[in-house]
Amino acid sequence: MAKTKRTYEEQTTDPAAQQMLIRADELGIGTAFSRADEMALCNIGGAGMCCKICSMGPCRLTKEGQTGVCGATLDTIQARNFIRSIAGGAAAHSDHGRDMAFTLKAVANGEAEGYIIRDVAKLRTVAKENGIAIEGRRKAEASLAEIVVEELDRRGDRIEAYQDVGAAVGRGSIGKNDIIK
Ligand code: SF4
Repeated sequence: MAKTKRTYEEQTTDPAAQQMLIRADELGIGTAFSRADEMALCNIGGAGMCCKICSMGPCRLTKEGQTGVCGATLDTIQARNFIRSIAGGAAAHSDHGRDMAFTLKAVANGEAEGYIIRDVAKLRTVAKENGIAIEGRRKAEASLAEIVVEELDRRGDRIEAYQDVGAAVGRGSIGKNDIIK
């Protein structure tokens, strides 16, 4: 069943994007916005009550006290779905942040023709927040880019922390109420 189509203003506050959506509609080209409006959401999946992690499922938990074939409770399934969504989304989008950091570094080194730092005030604020001296601006830009890349590359202790959380969720000792406050 189709959902209600939102107005262009409801879909995005960006006037340029609104113009783009109007033109896409005129040309009959689907966008993420139009597809979202046409998609009837699954209530069970939308509430994180469906698990398809393994081939014994998919398991849909709709009754109080019900568990999946493996014994996973609703709390466990919802927590796992939540964490996997975060991990997938962060993994997909961290790549864009990494590219921006490399571009910032290239700008600082004078290697990115056509690119400039437009919001110098923001650069100064972020540099200050990260304890970077901002007297030499190019140096600050390069240092900031290096910090971002280093942060994105960090593993070790963080991976262990994620594994601990993952193991606790798998055991069922962490439920969604422990994660979503
Ligand atoms: S609830 Fe358990 S058995 Fe069902 S799909 Fe998920 S992991 Fe597999």
